[in-house]
Amino acid sequence: MARGVAETAAGLAAVARAFHARGWLLGTSGNLSAVVERQPLRIAMSASGVDKGELRPEQVLSIDEDARVVGRNGGKPSDESLLHIRIVKERGAGAVLHTHSVWNTILSDFFAADGGIKIEGYEMLKGLQGVRTHEHAEWLPIVENSQDMTALADTIGETLNKHNDAHGFLLRRHGLYSWGDNLAQAKRHIEILEFLLETIGRTLRIREQAI
Ligand SMILES: [Zn+2]
Repeated sequence: MARGVAETAAGLAAVARAFHARGWLLGTSGNLSAVVERQPLRIAMSASGVDKGELRPEQVLSIDEDARVVGRNGGKPSDESLLHIRIVKERGAGAVLHTHSVWNTILSDFFAADGGIKIEGYEMLKGLQGVRTHEHAEWLPIVENSQDMTALADTIGETLNKHNDAHGFLLRRHGLYSWGDNLAQAKRHIEILEFLLETIGRTLRIREQAI
């Protein structure tokens, strides 16, 4: 592996282990990527079908803008590579992370009819890039899930254009996507959004029990 790719792969593997420990990347679910080079586009991305709790740097692939493997590491690119590439292009992101937590799965279905979740009034919102006050209202769009990754990438492109300020989105009954200028920022955004989603989910449950 080239030095840049090797360092990035080690960083992705560390984040995968941390997220797995939180229950957000169980089994082979979810995927992680980070941009290594912009021109031409080279993205380090977790391979398909690998256990995220045991992700090793050599299981991180280098892919191009068409999701073809270009590096020395072999393996199959994740089906969701096209979504990562679209987010990198639309947002100029340096890293894209995707988790399958219990709470993001539940709430992506619970609020699906609304087309998204409005998250407002929480101090933790200030962990999202550019947010200065808890009075911020974050709209987390929900996109219908699909196995047609080309069509889904187009839908996500439209969603990102429509919601320019969004720091992430949910795929219905599937999971959360977030990103950042770099891996550290993307990791922070996932942690913040997962915290907020769990908080909203638990609040709904307490309200239900109180009635
Ligand atoms: Zn997924």
